[in-house]
Amino acid sequence: MKRKFVSIGECMVEMAPGGNGDYRLGFAGDTLNTAWYAKRTFSDDWEIAYLTAVGDDEISRRMTEFIRDAGIRTDFIQKIPDRTVGLYLIQLNHGERSFAYWRSDSAARQLAGDPARLEAAMVSAGVIYFSGITLAILSAHHRTSLLEAISGARRNGAIVAFDPNLRPRLWEDAETMRQMVMSAAGVSDIILPSHEDEALHFGDPAPDATASRYGDAGASLVVVKNGPGEIVSLDHGEIGRHDPVLVDSIVDTTAAGDSFNAGFLAAYLERGDLSLAIRAGAELAARVISRRGALVD
Ligand code: ADP
Repeated sequence: MKRKFVSIGECMVEMAPGGNGDYRLGFAGDTLNTAWYAKRTFSDDWEIAYLTAVGDDEISRRMTEFIRDAGIRTDFIQKIPDRTVGLYLIQLNHGERSFAYWRSDSAARQLAGDPARLEAAMVSAGVIYFSGITLAILSAHHRTSLLEAISGARRNGAIVAFDPNLRPRLWEDAETMRQMVMSAAGVSDIILPSHEDEALHFGDPAPDATASRYGDAGASLVVVKNGPGEIVSLDHGEIGRHDPVLVDSIVDTTAAGDSFNAGFLAAYLERGDLSLAIRAGAELAARVISRRGALVD
């Protein structure tokens, strides 16, 4: 039987500026991006599934179809009546990109609202992947339900991978974000933070400090990404240092971390060699940032 990688979170409609004042409609979101790259990097011994909630309208149907057409299983996508999906718009001002979001009432905010569905997904998962954004969009009650379901799956043998993806604007306050992220770290085996975010919101002076903090929370493996900088790993207490992959011309860093996570997890879970897996993650991220857009074929 195939092993299942279940990614949990929110996919949004993306409106990206075209050349002539028009906008191109796409679909993206941190955990969906990782699932999308996972489908392209894990071997056929794996099934990749996405757990989220969408509405019951036309754009929700198109989003689900997009995910299915990418070869990702959609069995755990719940339809919520009278809701729709979130949206973001990429704005360009003299070549600088910024993002405007409409997601505060999206269907995905209910993704942990059905305990039976959550349980069914968890029972089947070999690997569970989620992020700080997944938690940020949920109510306090649903955050607890999700973490309980994940820790139950872990007790039954699932491997849990977590990217803290710190986005304070999505949280009610920064202290809640820090507390919940550390609670999530406490139910995770593999943690994949980005040092720049962690330095800003936890005050870590260096990637080693980020690695130790998550190691102390109980994770057996922490891999700290750091843009173009050295990647630091902490594997059962042992620090490792890994060269980044140099990129000649960076076009768009969207989904650098998301694609790194997919490339890393595929190589690590299939072959178990940490250094090779970090190299695989960095190589995939390097290719992704050399092209425009979150999802690069
Ligand atoms: P995030 O996209 O989550 O903020 P990072 O910026 O830390 O994450 O980048 C994730 C990974 O993407 C890095 O570990 C590295 O492998 C790759 N990467 C990002 N920026 C660069 C860069 N300027 N040059 C080379 N690799 C990069």
